[in-house]
Amino acid sequence: MKVLVTGAAGFIGGHLVDRLLGEGHTVVGTDNLSRGTMASLADAVDHPGFRFVRADLGAIDADIAAVVAEGPFDRVWHLAANSDIGAGVADDAIDLRDTFLTTRSALRIARETGARGLVLASTSAVYGESDEVLDEAFGPLLPISNYGAMKLAAEAAVSAAAETFLETAWILRFPNVVGSRASHGVIRDLSIKLTHDRSRLPVLGDGSQKKPYVHVAELIDAMQFIVGQDATGRQLYNIGPEDDGVTVADLVADLVAAVGADTRIEFAGGDRGWVGDVPRFRYSVAKLRALGWRPALSSREAVGRAIDAAVREWGLLGSSS
Ligand code: NAD
Repeated sequence: MKVLVTGAAGFIGGHLVDRLLGEGHTVVGTDNLSRGTMASLADAVDHPGFRFVRADLGAIDADIAAVVAEGPFDRVWHLAANSDIGAGVADDAIDLRDTFLTTRSALRIARETGARGLVLASTSAVYGESDEVLDEAFGPLLPISNYGAMKLAAEAAVSAAAETFLETAWILRFPNVVGSRASHGVIRDLSIKLTHDRSRLPVLGDGSQKKPYVHVAELIDAMQFIVGQDATGRQLYNIGPEDDGVTVADLVADLVAAVGADTRIEFAGGDRGWVGDVPRFRYSVAKLRALGWRPALSSREAVGRAIDAAVREWGLLGSSS
C-alpha cells in the first residue's frame, strides 16, 4: 500500500511512519515542522520506501500540490494538528488553522489522489467535561477547549466526506498518549524541569487530575487493528486502556522515583493544570474490545514505560540535585 501520513514529524507520526515502513508500505510523510522535528523521522529518512514533503496544510487555500504530486495514495493517516491545548485557548486561530484546516487539506489531498480511506487522529477532548463513562454514543459533545472544538469539527468534516469520495472514514479518539520521543505532555514537561533543577519540581494543578494513558506502541497496534478490519463508511472508536487512569500525583511520584533524586514536589494547586484541561474523565473502550483488541498495558504501566524512556532521553539517571 502507498500511504500518506500528515503530521509525520510529530510524536505519534514518527512512530506510525516507522511501523508502516516496517510492514512494507510505501510512505509519504508531510509536516510543516512547526511542532514536529526531523528527529522523529531519523530512522525513516534513509529508508527507500519513505519520502518527506514539507508543507503547511493549515490554510483554506493551502498549497497541497507537492503532496498531491506524490500520489496516488491508498490511504491517508491524518495526524497533523495543534498539540498545545493551552496555546489554542489563548489564541483561537491556532486550532482553526492547525487542527481544522489541516483536516480540510487532508481531505482535499485524499480526494485529489484517489485515496479511498482516511484515518483521523481524534481525541477524548471532543467529549468535554463529564462524570459519565464516555463511550462513542455519548452526547451532546460539548468540548471545553478550542482544540476539542476543532477536533469535533474535523470529525464532522471527515464524516461528511464518507458520504462522497471516502469509502471508509476512521475516526479514532485517543486519550493521553505517552512514549519515547514525546513532543509534549506532562512527562516531557516535568523531565525538562528536572534537567534544570532536581531539588524541586513544580507541578501544575493539585495532583488529583486523573486520566487514562495509552502507550504509543499500543495506540498504533490498536489503530492498525481497527483499520485492518474489512469495513466501510464511518468507523468511530475510542482507543485507550481499560482502567480509570493515573493521577498526576502518582505519575509525578513514579517519575521522581525513577530519577532517584531527592526532589521536593510542589503542586501549584487548583483542580486542573490549565484552562481547557479536562481534569478527570472515564473512558469506555468496550466497542474496541468487542471488535477484538485489548491493550496489554494499564495506564500506570504505559506511564512507567514512558517515564523510563524520558529518563534515558533527558539524561536524568544517576544524578543528584
Ligand atoms: P505532535 O505535535 O507531536 O504532532 C503533530 C504534528 O503536526 C507536528 O509535527 C506539527 O509540526 C504538525 N503540524 C501542525 N500544524 C501543521 C500544519 N499547519 N501543517 C502541517 N503540519 C502541521 O502531536 P502528536 O502527539 O504526535 O499528535 C498526533 C495526533 O494525535 C494529533 O492529531 C493529535 O491531536 C492527536 N492526539 C494526540 C494525543 C496525545 O496525547 N499525544 C492525544 C489525543 C489525540
